[in-house]
Amino acid sequence: MSDYMVEFSDFRSDTVTRPTENMQKAMAEAVVGDDVLGDDPTVQRLETMAAEIMGKEAGLFVPSGTMGNSVAIKVWTNELEEVIVESRAHLYNMELTHMTFIARVTPRPLSSDRGAIDPEEVERNIRMPSVHTPRTSLICVENSHNNWSGSVVPLENLKAIREIANKHNLKVHFDGARIFNASHASEIPVKEYAKIGDSLMFCLSKGLSAPVGSMLVGPKDFIEYGRRVRKALGGGMRQVGVLAAPGIVALTEMIDRLKEDNDRAKRLASAIASMPGIRLDPAKIETNIVIFGFDHPKFSILEFLAKLKEHAVLALATTGGIRFVTHKDVGDEDVDRAINSFQKLLS
Ligand SMILES: *Cc1c(COP(=O)(O)O)cnc(C)c1O
Repeated sequence: MSDYMVEFSDFRSDTVTRPTENMQKAMAEAVVGDDVLGDDPTVQRLETMAAEIMGKEAGLFVPSGTMGNSVAIKVWTNELEEVIVESRAHLYNMELTHMTFIARVTPRPLSSDRGAIDPEEVERNIRMPSVHTPRTSLICVENSHNNWSGSVVPLENLKAIREIANKHNLKVHFDGARIFNASHASEIPVKEYAKIGDSLMFCLSKGLSAPVGSMLVGPKDFIEYGRRVRKALGGGMRQVGVLAAPGIVALTEMIDRLKEDNDRAKRLASAIASMPGIRLDPAKIETNIVIFGFDHPKFSILEFLAKLKEHAVLALATTGGIRFVTHKDVGDEDVDRAINSFQKLLS
């Protein structure tokens, strides 16, 4: 039987979410124009909406979160400078070559407690330019924190980092790929988080289920220059209102339901935490990502993932463990299927 004939419970990522019916309808009906020439009213509506939701002056629709982060770093820095990042950040682990390639700056990774870097550690690592050392010009934060199993970085910690940035005249870029998941978990409005960053990026194409795209928001002149950088990176798109339209649906209809994803991740974590071979503290699962250590006498991580696939459950390996992500297209029955498969395989 081909893979395509099986109905998988697909926990690999919230990027696998398919557009809703309303999104498909919005795509079909979108009023479009040439966005590179500034003519697409649907893109303009989405950019205004994103900026308003985050309390920023302007917004930019980008093809991916990766491009949003790359544009932000390029605009905020000059070559030969240094960027402070958290050592498990997406920006450091999946995108670090991008910042050296595009912005010609180097990352300075700092370790943390579940994504919260000690503000004093940040201050100690700010460097003055000299013949030997680069100038630090930017601090990047991430929330929810993907590689820390979707942890919610405390607002107090982010505020302390912002204060240090102010004191040393540095910019802050906020990687808020899953900012709405964090906001639901902490009950802190996204605008409060967005105040921490001079700029913020968030994804439409993850739990919010739009087919493509992310938003970069920030001050007007930052976005204006960012638009030129986006074009230079090949991200100038023409009648792209067809992709902005589902983004508008994502922001009007899909934010609230992310709570369900957070709840399902907790339920999955609580059910599997005490099974043989699993290292997981369910109290630490705050949003929609469940990462656990796996060390079982019968299976390696890859063997276990292959067994799960035979049970029509898909997940991914990550450093030292396994990663499950909940989203719109895995409901309660998929969580049940995953839990039952764990029970059968591990006991
Ligand atoms: C997914 C993700 C990105 C990148 O988004 P893409 O749209 O996949 O390029 C950036 N940061 C974090 C924290 C992410 O989870």
